[in-house]
Amino acid sequence: MNFENRNKEADQSFKVAGNLGPIPYGRQNITEEDIQAVIETLKSDYLTQGPKIAEFEEAFSGYVGNKYAVAVSNGTAALHLCAMALNVQEGDKVITTPITFAASANCVRYCGGEVVFADIDPQTYLLDIKKVRELLEASPKGTYKGIIPVDFAGRAVDLEAFRNLANEYDLWIIEDSCHAPGGHFIDSNAKKQNCGNGNFADLAIFSFHPVKHIACGEGGMITTNDDKLYEKLLQLRTHGIVKDEGKYKNTPEFAIGLDESRIPNPESPIYPNWYMEMQDLGYNYRLTDFQAALGSSQLKRADRGLAKRKEIAATYLKEFKGKDFIKGQSGVVEGHAYHLYVIEVEYRLGLYNFLRENNIFAQIHYIPCHLMPYYREFGWKEGDMPHAENYYKHCLSLPMYPTLTNDEQEFVIRKIKEFFS
Ligand SMILES: *Cc1c(COP(=O)(O)O)cnc(C)c1O
Repeated sequence: MNFENRNKEADQSFKVAGNLGPIPYGRQNITEEDIQAVIETLKSDYLTQGPKIAEFEEAFSGYVGNKYAVAVSNGTAALHLCAMALNVQEGDKVITTPITFAASANCVRYCGGEVVFADIDPQTYLLDIKKVRELLEASPKGTYKGIIPVDFAGRAVDLEAFRNLANEYDLWIIEDSCHAPGGHFIDSNAKKQNCGNGNFADLAIFSFHPVKHIACGEGGMITTNDDKLYEKLLQLRTHGIVKDEGKYKNTPEFAIGLDESRIPNPESPIYPNWYMEMQDLGYNYRLTDFQAALGSSQLKRADRGLAKRKEIAATYLKEFKGKDFIKGQSGVVEGHAYHLYVIEVEYRLGLYNFLRENNIFAQIHYIPCHLMPYYREFGWKEGDMPHAENYYKHCLSLPMYPTLTNDEQEFVIRKIKEFFS
């Protein structure tokens, strides 16, 4: 089946019948080219651990403009490996935002660390650096180990500011950039800093879940410029296994399985080809080759997708100009990757249900993490994060994805205007 044609047919039927399929808040776009890339890989010698992984990693590094990329099975695995590579230990305190997908915080818990939430800035919806500073100043140096800022909705965090603060307190930074491939902020030298480029954060992570900008089905990527962290990540991605003669801890005699007396050249015995060592407790967090092929194929359209997202955002903004539900970051913002287009509505449930009745599936991002029953068990309660909690009462993510047609967006806009009239 030709997917491009199918989309065109869908548009056509809308125009003719005024009959629209369901409009989600986000969705993937799979083209004929993507399908061919996957099929080609399925017919090749490798389903996993083949050449497509390295190709995808290299292309992705090129896209964000950094040194190393490590493809993994999903964004959550990426976060877990980052926390492990940075050696998060039992009791280590790490700061993150409550307005994010739970995985941003959970990775700290996987390692036994303690999640400390800091409130958002009500204008940007991002982790408020002033609140982070207050936390850091209120405790002796060394209390906190790291910060996990999130480029929420696609708006890039000012990581230069976070880096300066982190340096004062000797903290690492993991940038959760799941919403922001292609996003950037402008630094103090008026230079464009791409999300995930590793100039300020130690590590950055991305997700290739179908609602994200690039879809692999499931998939994730870690980017870094740090040689040591890169090696650690490669090792942890595959069970903690090392295959490098310079790094082995067991003796070559052991590896060969012979008594020293029977080794041909006992002065410099070498490790046999089959040998490898598990030196750390790692995982199997690999991406498959056919997913990587899909990722590479999708990545080729990333810029076009981003341009379309910006257009959709600009149209919403133009149509809703002056409306009081346009708040915070819903205006056009430099470097915004527009993963989400969030409005803040007084009677949110009413609009949400009205849109559903019209086959428009807006969504809520996010229920504040600190008020999830799991995190309440750690003592977090209502009132702890007033801005995040107030944001949650009103936020609504409107449909935002590159294949949203003009007709579909017009329909969404018309229905929202109808609700408020
Ligand atoms: C999607 C997402 C994740 C997790 O990614 P998965 O690939 O679904 O595991 C983490 N953080 C944020 C902000 C996300 O949006």
